[in-house]
Amino acid sequence: MTQPKTISILGATGSIGQNVLDVMRQHPQRFELVAMSAHRNVAQLVKDAKAFSPKVVCVSDDSLYMQTKEALAGTHIQVMGGESGLLEMAALEVDICVAAIVGAAGLKPVFEAVKHCERLALANKEALVCAGELLIRECKAHGTELPPVDSEHNAIHQLLQSRPAEEISSITLTASGGPFLTRDLASFDTITPSEAVAHPNWSMGAKISVDSATMMNKGLELIEAYHLFPFTPEQLKVVIHPQSIIHGLVSFVDGSTLAQMGNPDMRTPIAYCMEYPQRMSSGVAPLNLSEISRLDFSALEDERFPALKLAYAAMEQGQSACIALNAANEVAVEAFMNEQIRFPQITELVAQALERHETVAINSLEDVMAVDERVRRLVSNGFLRAA
Ligand code: NAD
Ligand code: MG
Repeated sequence: MTQPKTISILGATGSIGQNVLDVMRQHPQRFELVAMSAHRNVAQLVKDAKAFSPKVVCVSDDSLYMQTKEALAGTHIQVMGGESGLLEMAALEVDICVAAIVGAAGLKPVFEAVKHCERLALANKEALVCAGELLIRECKAHGTELPPVDSEHNAIHQLLQSRPAEEISSITLTASGGPFLTRDLASFDTITPSEAVAHPNWSMGAKISVDSATMMNKGLELIEAYHLFPFTPEQLKVVIHPQSIIHGLVSFVDGSTLAQMGNPDMRTPIAYCMEYPQRMSSGVAPLNLSEISRLDFSALEDERFPALKLAYAAMEQGQSACIALNAANEVAVEAFMNEQIRFPQITELVAQALERHETVAINSLEDVMAVDERVRRLVSNGFLRAA
């Protein structure tokens, strides 16, 4: 009997974190949960901690530390709190760390975890968007594997199979088009937060759901792909595919294109990241193509989805512009969710932030955080007030 693989989950109470726990529940002999974090959802954290008995839990919102500690009194589980607790948790030695915190808040723990795990299963795409080169360098320095959880990149990872870059002409990420693929453009001003988070195919956290509605999610994913795989921006393509059955495609120089397919359920890429290069069951139903019956594809309309062009522009401009794009987007999405701005203003604010951004060199995580904080301040104090 081989030893179970030890796992920690940064952001265990979110949509990805809960799917990881679901896969683990199906394979109790293979995995052992060592540590898990939540930001504010103490009830879910405590419930899962009681079921999985990890050594450590962390509640990263420090004000909830005592509440969590009291709820777990009488167990052997050590409770950590605040950002320092999160970094301490990320420094625990494990086989696999699943990075599933949303947004730039996940950066510091990711950079800590990369030094202490064998494999970093990365869902937190913002870490690659804001600090791709640095993160890849850290992975190489520490010999850490970086399989992507994001379904499109996971598809490409499965398809590439270590083929040399010269054999490949392009890679394509599919985009469902989100809830507003066919909505009348004239009515975009009246889109409500609940309409924006209602994704047709995937059940996800609120921020990524809004990003899918603006298509900024695909923009962030292009930048993510740029760092994960050895291709130029021109070789990275996006196609609208409303059924979300094909997740990614690799086109070879000989005219052959391979596609990875599966039902839209994050447990497939999660199980792949946990057991790669082996496969294990994930609980996802097998694909029934005769039931699906058709797969549709179309090109992206720039007018409907300006976010994609912004992402290409940031990618061309360099790392600090990508940080600016991400920071402005996070602030704008939150403002939209709080009904402070209208839906089209999300990408307008990002465009303004990019226009005003002056490129700076990014050589460390401190450099990343400095640009991130500056742009956040600018967007919330300046443009947002005028919006
Ligand atoms: P979510 O909002 O459902 O969960 C986020 C998790 O992060 C929660 O556990 C929350 O407690 C924690 N968190 C939130 N703010 C935090 C903070 N300031 N500090 C520390 N922890 C914090 O998000 P999600 O949908 O699970 O997405 C997580 C990440 O995975 C995102 O980067 C997203 O882009 C990526 N991703 C998600 C999906 C999906 O299907 N949900 C697919 C691909 C990629
Ligand atoms: Mg994705």
